[in-house]
Amino acid sequence: MNLQVITPICGQCVMNCPYCMANAHEHGNKFQDLYRENKDAYFGKMRRVFRGMDLNTIVVTGTADPLQEPEVVKEISQMLKECMKPSSTIELQTRIHNRVTDEISQQFDAIAFSIDNPKQIPSIKKPQSKVNRFVFILTDAFNGYNLQQLLDMGQFTPEQITFKILVSSNEINCKQDEWVRQHNCDLATQERLKSDAEKENKKGKISVRWDDTCWIADNRYIVFRQDGDLYHTWDDPEPAMIVRPMEAQIKARASTITNKSGASIKPSAINPKRSCCDAGNAVPYLGDNEASI
Ligand code: SF4
Repeated sequence: MNLQVITPICGQCVMNCPYCMANAHEHGNKFQDLYRENKDAYFGKMRRVFRGMDLNTIVVTGTADPLQEPEVVKEISQMLKECMKPSSTIELQTRIHNRVTDEISQQFDAIAFSIDNPKQIPSIKKPQSKVNRFVFILTDAFNGYNLQQLLDMGQFTPEQITFKILVSSNEINCKQDEWVRQHNCDLATQERLKSDAEKENKKGKISVRWDDTCWIADNRYIVFRQDGDLYHTWDDPEPAMIVRPMEAQIKARASTITNKSGASIKPSAINPKRSCCDAGNAVPYLGDNEASI
């Protein structure tokens, strides 16, 4: 299982990308900001989720660019490193390329640079992370390019490349849909880049992926929001699993649980390791349910 962490960033994204999928959700991203309301509770929920799940990759991303607030990113990456399994990898996605400092990149196994215009490629500096990825968001600025031309523009060759097609919001954001219609990369370029991607993969030096379903979360990843709960998709207005701090779980269970003869059970009699969420098996915990808050 992979997990995406929506970084709790204040306000609108400064990058204002006209194709941003964060502006294409009916819920309007109006979720509780537990990080700012009660940081201890937020990190407590994060510990419970990340210690209990068998995660392959954790992606730090957002409905605003995470590096809009580098201090928040540092804090979150440190917490993730403390509580995730050693086998998990942690990746940062960003469009603010010049904020990927050595200090930031050393905290991640992978950095994914979102690039929506080839002119941005030459200024990207090689980060300290083990793996680097260029995520080409195929606007019409890519028209006429082939993969080798894009690689030649860089200061370094990334280990991974992803091509992403612009997608419509299906009329949730009509202005954005119109922009996407007018600024998608032309089909001839898409076909050439797709063919280049296949050839590059056969060479085996760079891993290239063609992604035209990045917004579909099913079976690919789940989402940890700024309210500290888990969601099946970016579109869902309600969590798949409400992650509760341990004390709240004990209180909630004590108010509802009775023994065989109908008497209520005291909180002290409940083994906290048996309780992890109130949404059943929506997202199963595979490891122990250790909680430290
Ligand atoms: S940088 Fe990312 S979050 Fe910000 S506007 Fe662009 S696509 Fe949206």
